[in-house]
Amino acid sequence: MKILKFGGTSVANAQHIKQVQNIVKNLDENNIVVVVSALGGITDLLLKTVDLASNQDESYKDSLREIEDRHIKTIKELIPIQLQSAILSKVKSELNTLETLAEGAFLIAEKTPQLTDKIVSFGELLSSFIISEFFISTGMNAAFKDSRELIKTDDTYGKAVVNFESTNTNCKAYFSNTKNKITVIPGFISSSAKGNHTTLGRGGSDYSAAVVASAIDAEELQIWTDVSGMYTANPRIVKQAKAIPQISYEEAMELSHFGAKVLYPPTIQPVLSKNIPILIKNTFAPEEAGTLIAKNENVLGKSVRGISNVEHITLLSLEGPGMIGIPGISKRFFEVLSQAGISVVLITQASSEHSICVGISDNDAIIAESLVNAAFEYEIATQKIKPVLVETGLAIIALVGDNMKSHQGLSGKMFSALGKNNVNIRAIAQGASERNISAVIKNDDVKKALNTLHEEFFEENIKQLNLFVMGVGNVGSRFIKQIQKQKKYLKTNLKLNPRVIGLSNSRTMIFEEGGIPLEHWEELLAKGEKADRTKFYENVLKYNYRNSIFVDNTASEIVANDYSDYLKR
Ligand code: ASP
Repeated sequence: MKILKFGGTSVANAQHIKQVQNIVKNLDENNIVVVVSALGGITDLLLKTVDLASNQDESYKDSLREIEDRHIKTIKELIPIQLQSAILSKVKSELNTLETLAEGAFLIAEKTPQLTDKIVSFGELLSSFIISEFFISTGMNAAFKDSRELIKTDDTYGKAVVNFESTNTNCKAYFSNTKNKITVIPGFISSSAKGNHTTLGRGGSDYSAAVVASAIDAEELQIWTDVSGMYTANPRIVKQAKAIPQISYEEAMELSHFGAKVLYPPTIQPVLSKNIPILIKNTFAPEEAGTLIAKNENVLGKSVRGISNVEHITLLSLEGPGMIGIPGISKRFFEVLSQAGISVVLITQASSEHSICVGISDNDAIIAESLVNAAFEYEIATQKIKPVLVETGLAIIALVGDNMKSHQGLSGKMFSALGKNNVNIRAIAQGASERNISAVIKNDDVKKALNTLHEEFFEENIKQLNLFVMGVGNVGSRFIKQIQKQKKYLKTNLKLNPRVIGLSNSRTMIFEEGGIPLEHWEELLAKGEKADRTKFYENVLKYNYRNSIFVDNTASEIVANDYSDYLKR
């Protein structure tokens, strides 16, 4: 049996759902479970509805209308007209129940986690029902099954804990008897032993699919999303990033915790213990290979598998002579944070025990500062410990790879590449498993740092050179011509890929983020903004590119006077 999970963008509208149907139809399999998310954006709209209603804001009705319109439109575009009325009437009756619940929240001006779960479940309930009816209308041997009857949890609303024993029994009993080739089930939703609606946390449809896959010992779990797998780095920041063909469960877990939002991190656990492979595929480019997540022994090659990043991090540092050799300080430090529900994403402590430093989300910084200072009030008053130092606006970047442990010099390479590019490192952490080397840097340096590291570890050492050129007289224009002519030569023979980002003569200057097209530099420069040396320098800093090179093709003493500023940076 195969489990296929389709995320919100994959089922966002009728056109996308038709692609989903194509994928399922073309699968040569006898037994398929299709797990679907809510139509893209609907979960957010449902949450907005409860918020508005419980704040007695009448505009909750607008959100409800939007939810209704999206579903009705999707049905009308998917289902042949003669079959529409039964489906429309069922969906309308569900929408009426939803309206009654929202009205309840409005009247009592209150929302409970239990009510929120009830309301938010409508997203997946409606999408899975519509999709199953669409499959049936196209002649597929499909059926709908409510996953609340399969997945059982405790009653921690918002992020319930699965009871694997009863869930496994339910799933085994149902799927061993079903005669349908395809079963469509709603992701994300479940029910408690008492029968109350629960949900598995935002992004939890992936987890539903993994829970079912594990319960029925599926042969494969496929996660269909809007990107072609897990990437070597965030492709929005690193243009050269590529989908990773194969990765281990542990590596995938590290990468999914850090930034790569391709997979909901808890998804891996249930399938890992059963050794069920996860295949990540792109609904909008099904021909692309995607990423296969499997046991480590299948994974060959590279020591660094990917580079991840988490932005908006705050460092809290607790420091002082009163910490040395005194047990219990870190216990108290972590206890305060955990009691406030603040998650710690990185920890470092020097062996001198003089300071301890943790990374948390920027959102938690203010509350954490006051709680920690309150907890150590006595030590601070007696100057044994300094008030906690809070640094916000930071980010974590991390190299991830199972095979890093058997390679020397990786962290040396990492830190020297960052250092050469003027990326200041505020803290470092490396897990004893050596699967992750993390560095805390400034948020503003993330783009440069990721590109630097990607170049260092994934691009066979073709170095991108970012040139900022001043002067286009005799020497300067020859220089540009040479760069243009030799670009190919430099790339293949010296593994250098130069591009001119900024260009100026004494009258005008131009800048181009991806490199100035050198064939037309003269026309472009003529139309550029007024030349200004200070602004030119500020732009070089603003672009904050790796391997930035300032080229002076003028014979001007004034320009030469600026060298020291460039060199300092
Ligand atoms: N619809 C839910 C959400 O947006 C669950 C999911 O799509 O995975 O979080």
